[in-house]
Amino acid sequence: MSETIFTKIINKEIPADILYEDDEALAFKDINPQAPVHFLVIPKKPIATINDMTKEDNALVGHLHWVASHIAKEQGFAQDGFRTVMNCNEHGGQTVYHIHLHVLAGKPLGWPPYQEKLKV
Ligand code: AMP
Repeated sequence: MSETIFTKIINKEIPADILYEDDEALAFKDINPQAPVHFLVIPKKPIATINDMTKEDNALVGHLHWVASHIAKEQGFAQDGFRTVMNCNEHGGQTVYHIHLHVLAGKPLGWPPYQEKLKV
């Protein structure tokens, strides 16, 4: 897998507003927030897309969700609620090919995200 900007953030080669770090994961604020609270939780292991996960990565991806709720509790928005999203490939809107969990919070979020009328 070719290196992405997130590898540079993991290696501290470029700055990021880091909220949490352990041996397996890193969480930092999204540079282009789409909600009052918007941060990303990434594995330190580079995995390009969800499609590239193996079963050995199951616990690691589960850990990303634990990190999301840990930060939510720490920052006080766990009870109000939040949304986690992991985009995959072009139709999912993925732009950085190192998996990352978006965590969005801070106001009631719209649902469904897909507003266009479905043509069947
Ligand atoms: P996605 O479109 O799901 O691949 O999400 C990529 C996200 O990474 C976007 O929300 C970007 O705003 C965010 N992003 C890109 N570069 C940086 C950066 N240097 N620091 C923080 N967030 C970034």
